[in-house]
Amino acid sequence: MKVGIIGTGYVGLPTGVGLAELGNQVICIDREPRKIEALQAGKITLYEDGLEELFHKNVKEGRLHFTTSMKEGISDADLVIIAVGTPPHPVTKEADMKYIHAAATELAEYLTDYTVVATKSTVPVGTGDVVEGLIAKKNPNADFDVVSLPEFLREGFAVYDFFHPDRIVVGANTEKARNVIKELYKPFEGKTNMLFVKRRSSETIKYASNAFLAIKIHYINEMANFCEKTGADITEVAKGMGLDTRIGNRFLNPGPGYGGSCFPKDTMAMAYMARQNDVDMTLIKAAIDGNAKRKQQMAERILESVKSIENPKIAVLGLAFKDGTDDCRESPAMEIIGNLLEVNANITAYDPKAMVTSKLLIGDKIKYAENMYDALKDADVLAILTEWQEFKTLNLQKAASLMRHKNIVDCRNLLNADTAKNNGFKYQGIGR
Ligand code: NAD
Repeated sequence: MKVGIIGTGYVGLPTGVGLAELGNQVICIDREPRKIEALQAGKITLYEDGLEELFHKNVKEGRLHFTTSMKEGISDADLVIIAVGTPPHPVTKEADMKYIHAAATELAEYLTDYTVVATKSTVPVGTGDVVEGLIAKKNPNADFDVVSLPEFLREGFAVYDFFHPDRIVVGANTEKARNVIKELYKPFEGKTNMLFVKRRSSETIKYASNAFLAIKIHYINEMANFCEKTGADITEVAKGMGLDTRIGNRFLNPGPGYGGSCFPKDTMAMAYMARQNDVDMTLIKAAIDGNAKRKQQMAERILESVKSIENPKIAVLGLAFKDGTDDCRESPAMEIIGNLLEVNANITAYDPKAMVTSKLLIGDKIKYAENMYDALKDADVLAILTEWQEFKTLNLQKAASLMRHKNIVDCRNLLNADTAKNNGFKYQGIGR
């Protein structure tokens, strides 16, 4: 199948590479010339485990191409996938649809034979109708169907998730469109759940899922606060809860709050849609408010640990919003650092993958270290903000010898509390 993908970000690029690997002819389109020039020159533009190798393989085998030209990418395509950003609107916090609307309008004039236009971006319910209207207005003769094809990949596992999806949800209102998507996902037939639903249901499934996971994280964080007051240990509590298959053991890790390019914006967009439709969704509101407070609380906890020290030096391990990615968008680390900078904290940070992306967001307001031990030199507190497995290997004896004061605020419960205490650290984890 010939596939044109609009947007080569964290969703578009792994999707393009994955579909090429399945044997499709894929053209990835992006309006940022710098991205396309880099990809054409064989340079991958984001970090995802296993992506680079598959990218080179499929470029070499002639199935994967890159262009800034909508005409080149769309004209021959059987399927066009829209994977542009839907960031929060700066004022209303609803999903800002300007990139979707622009993509729909730009692609319309190049549609020739029957084409399925699939929206992979996370979009408000009813967007399929809007995209359909925009295309029909620009190109009244176009023969096309608009399908909702929400993406459920996890950053850091995008390649794995592409080839091993939990489920494929398709919101298509015509048989013809459903058949095109069935053909695309034929390699997954019998291996995963394929759910064909109404387009509006499909659009809602994505928001309902992300909001649910955000609420689950908020819940376990509140439970961690409760454990801190009562002497229970949240890791034991979460383990006990997770053994109940009705609850499940995932998303029960307490931490500094959820972040990333999806949960914060999707919960806000869902809350906006609820307001627009006069539906009171109190759980989502609570998660949004609680999550904002959470990051403030973590910053306060770090400052409290060094309150008696003049001009304390803070070592931060972890900048990405989670492990396995270089994505710092809405990362709790970015917000916590922002709070610490408000009181002129002196911060040195290290992240295995996200230092370049962090610099794009906060520049040189903090210092960057070459490795985790460099970050610790003369520090008065170590704050662990991302759950990189590398940080688990931190030699606490060496860490103790490098730091000026032995304080650890472990916002991810990565380190062994007893080992830290045995090495002279004042150790604070989460909920234990
Ligand atoms: P991104 O910002 O990484 O990438 C979007 C890309 O689209 C950018 O490269 C941008 O230049 C390009 N673009 C925007 N308008 C364009 C246009 N008119 N023509 C060509 N290119 C255009 O975004 P992302 O993280 O890949 O997310 C894309 C969508 O997928 C969002 O709606 C997001 O909510 C959803 N989503 C993201 C994830 C994730 O883990 N990042 C997971 C599931 C769903």
